Formats: sequence, C-alpha cells, structure tokens
Amino acid sequence: MKKQVIIILGPPGAGKGTQAELLADKLSLYYFETSKILEQKFKEPDKNSIEIEGKKYDVLKEKKLWEDGILCSPPFVSYLVMERVKKLAGEGESLVLAGSPRTLYEGERVTPLLKELYGPENIKVFLIDISAEETIFRNTHRRICELMRHPVLYNKETENLKICSLDGSKLIRRKGLDDPETIKVRLKQYRERTFPLIELFGKQGIKVNKINGEQSVSDVHKDILKAIR
Ligand SMILES: [Zn+2]
Repeated sequence: MKKQVIIILGPPGAGKGTQAELLADKLSLYYFETSKILEQKFKEPDKNSIEIEGKKYDVLKEKKLWEDGILCSPPFVSYLVMERVKKLAGEGESLVLAGSPRTLYEGERVTPLLKELYGPENIKVFLIDISAEETIFRNTHRRICELMRHPVLYNKETENLKICSLDGSKLIRRKGLDDPETIKVRLKQYRERTFPLIELFGKQGIKVNKINGEQSVSDVHKDILKAIR
C-alpha cells in the first residue's frame, strides 16, 4: 500500500483523537501527536535554544508557556513537527495527525513538506463537522476518571458509562475547563485558526473532506474509511 498522510480537523469535542486512534489501528498508521513531541522535547532538552529562520527560541521559555497552558511559539512547534515528520517519512511510516497543524504558520510550513515527502495525492484531510451547540453540549458533558483523569467524551456509547474503561475508577466532571463560557472561547479560537487552514489546503491542491460528526463514533469512522478508499 502507498504511504499516506491523514489529517483530522474539527472543533473541541468532535472526537479527533478517537478517530485518529481507530484509523491508526485499522490502517497501521503512526499516530502523530504534536503534544507528545513537545513533551518529549521538554523532558530531554538536548539544546538550550533552537535557531529558526534567524531567530533564537529558548527551550525552557517554551516549556514554561506549555506548562502555563499557553500555545508555544508557532516557529518552535513547526520546527519540531517538521523534524519528526522527516524522520518518520524516512522510516517509511504512514501518518495520521489529529488537530495538527494547529496554526496557519504551522500549516504553511508543514503542508509543503508533507507534499514533498508523500505526494499531494496521498494526503487526505478530514473535517469532522459538529455544530456549535453540539460542541458545547459534548464538552460540558465531558467527564474524566478520578484515578488517571482519562477524558470520556459524551456520546451514545458513553452516556451510561459509570466507570473508566481503562482503569475502572469513577467518572467525574471537570470544573473550569469544561464550563460553557470557557468552551465558547475555545470554539472561537478554533474557528479563527481552522478556517484559514482549510483555505490553505485548498490553495495547496489538497481537498478537505467534510464528515458529519453528529453520528456514532463507528459511523464517523466508516465515513472516513469510505472517503479514503
Ligand atoms: Zn481512567
């Protein structure tokens, strides 16, 4: 099978991570998680700073942003993402990306690299579409487990779930992050960042497939598979 890249976009609560995991399993893809790449870098910084396009980025300063819940500098993130993409492509891996690229800056740099390494015809972008009301509903109904704080999104499959399927601990609500007002802010940020990205993919000759996200996890998965084949 040809090496390929699948990119999944969608608002908070669309189930991007879940779909990425399912696709990774089904199609033997490498699940490319930007947050894990950042985490790794911060755990074992091999340099104090990285020079990108003539500007120095302090790794510890970026770590501080990360720990404060603020987005790291886009050039810093793009640099690490591109480094890892090159390595994985060299190893012959096919990729699935969820919620990444996150910014237009990142998309403008990472997309041409992906095209060069995999070929534009082997890159597929999916937008899991759910309404604003649904995003707010799902996120305000999101629960986490008491023991490991595993997130459990609200949907038909999980609405009656009482315990974490991974460790058996009780499921509870989060305060703050999942309040309707906070979700509205996250939704606004998502729109401001994602719409320019969709335009960018179009300009780069990559089609964005819209998938109805307001159906069961398995039906969303089936729709994505259908569009890939
Ligand atoms: Zn758990």
